[in-house]
Amino acid sequence: MSSLFFQISSLFYIALIAVIYFSKKKYDTIENRTYSLLIVTTIITLIIDMASVSAALVNPDTILSAFLCKFYLVCIIAWVITFTYYILVISSRKNSGHVKIKENKNLPYFKNLFYVFLIMFIVIYLLIFILPLYIFSDHRKMYTYGPSAVFSYSIAAICILMWLGCLFSNIKKIRDKKYLPAFAFIVLGGTSAFIQSTFPDILLVTSAAAFITVLTYFTIENPDVKMIEELNIAKTQAEKANNAKTDFLSNMSHEIRTPLNAITGFSEALKEESDLPERVKEDVNDILMASDSLLEIVNGVLDISKIEANKLEIINNNYSPYKMFNDLTTLTKVRIGEKPIELIVKIDETIPKVLYGDHTRVKQVILNILTNAAKYTKEGHIIFKVDSLIKGDICRLIVSVEDTGIGIKRDKIDKLFDKFERLDEDRNTTIEGTGLGLAITKKLVQLMHGQLVVQSIYGKGSKFTVSIDQKIATSDVKLEDTMEVSREELTKDEDVIGKSVLVVDDNKLNIKVATRLLEEYGITVDSCMSGAECLEKVKSIKYDLIFMDDMMPRMSGTETFHKLKEDPNFNTPVVVLTANAIAGMEEKYLGEGFNSYLSKPIERKALDNVINKYLNNQ
Ligand code: ADP
Repeated sequence: MSSLFFQISSLFYIALIAVIYFSKKKYDTIENRTYSLLIVTTIITLIIDMASVSAALVNPDTILSAFLCKFYLVCIIAWVITFTYYILVISSRKNSGHVKIKENKNLPYFKNLFYVFLIMFIVIYLLIFILPLYIFSDHRKMYTYGPSAVFSYSIAAICILMWLGCLFSNIKKIRDKKYLPAFAFIVLGGTSAFIQSTFPDILLVTSAAAFITVLTYFTIENPDVKMIEELNIAKTQAEKANNAKTDFLSNMSHEIRTPLNAITGFSEALKEESDLPERVKEDVNDILMASDSLLEIVNGVLDISKIEANKLEIINNNYSPYKMFNDLTTLTKVRIGEKPIELIVKIDETIPKVLYGDHTRVKQVILNILTNAAKYTKEGHIIFKVDSLIKGDICRLIVSVEDTGIGIKRDKIDKLFDKFERLDEDRNTTIEGTGLGLAITKKLVQLMHGQLVVQSIYGKGSKFTVSIDQKIATSDVKLEDTMEVSREELTKDEDVIGKSVLVVDDNKLNIKVATRLLEEYGITVDSCMSGAECLEKVKSIKYDLIFMDDMMPRMSGTETFHKLKEDPNFNTPVVVLTANAIAGMEEKYLGEGFNSYLSKPIERKALDNVINKYLNNQ
């Protein structure tokens, strides 16, 4: 009984593994099927091993002993062959043993391999039974010898050589934990075979095989299918919730923009009134500033939700970096306002004239850090520096913004990019902000495969450095002519004065705002509240320009536009005017064929440009 100690304990733990393995839901893969076969073979081998040893110890000369001893050899060879097939499956060039059977394109390959092994096994099985086998037993210990045993051991040795072949042909993947059982068996099987040949009463080979089967269990690619299914359901639900959140936010942003359009529009118009008392003028400016902050918040929330839902796309176009840096400088100057801060601008002149990239997003990133520098600096200077590194057709823009502001504590730098995280709130109470700017900036930089580095000394100042790679556009590409004309010029311009414009919007307040703003240029404004009405009006009146809201009930602005275009004689420029101001919208509308795009609330400068482009014949 003591000689069976290893087999009994091996049978115990392999049975345990079998219960766990077969009770667990798993994918139907070649790897799993082969492993199932390996477990079954291991159990049968252990049982036959114990039976043959027991029978031989009692009486080696019976037919039962002879049969069981030969059957044991067959079993151990069956185990070695199954394990060899398993090694071939995991190291096959097709390497798709872990792919579900239903989806496995290489199934015929594995099937053929399996049949080859099966035929090999049947031949070996017959030979083991045909060749003679001798049993030695002195009722205390037993072992077998003779041609059948030698043949079996030779087959096992050939199989082990095949594993070695597989291991070395996959030398790069040799560290893959899946090969561990093969290595372990070479070491363990060799040692146990040596021990068994020296001390024949210690029967170890079958236990070594059982141990390897258990070891393989821990290396097999056998994910918990139930858990994966649950995770997939949770993922789908989370995605749905996230999409619902994004939709809700974009609807909210649309809804907020409409009244905001009225607030900024009327305030802008009021600001132009010359006979306003000074106090009212100040109030109007405050209203405008508050509306700007509100718009910034709406845009920020919308951007972050888009980024988190992976819906923010990088849209590349040709652009002039110099014009962008100029705009940024102007905007920063406005932001600095009356504060005693000197803005030092150093732009590397080797930057190509035309770059190809998402200039809206690049501008947004730089503007965010410039705005922060202006916000968090009381006095001193801000250095806005742009360097470039050109390699082939790539220009790396290295933008740094250094300020002499309040600085950031070392331990707070990591928190800087968290959403809604504002540092030093007690010191910053008077500075407006949401804590979204840098979170968006970082995500945008990541989306453009760039880098953002922050250096800061608390109380002394900060330096933000962004590097983004942009393609260099070929020099013969033309940029859109963006010559700008001031409103003062336009309002004096006879070409603009008296021109007729149609505003189409289902919201009365929006029509009122647009009319008020357009009338300032001396333009004659007509309006209507639906697509159908617009189609009617256009039949009898020839307008110089049409502003079209998109989101209208019954017939959308886009549908109305396409109906207008059905008339081959229709050549009035149509500008889409929409509160749907998320990224990518401009490209979408221009793709539909609209001449231009204006987002609500209407930006004065953008309106100036549109008027200049379509109504100023000069
Ligand atoms: P916001 O400026 O709207 O609060 P940001 O995400 O842009 O949000 O910035 C997060 C925080 O990082 C700010 O509240 C501020 O405390 C800190 N911060 C950003 N830029 C600077 C800077 N140049 N100097 C000092 N502190 C800064």
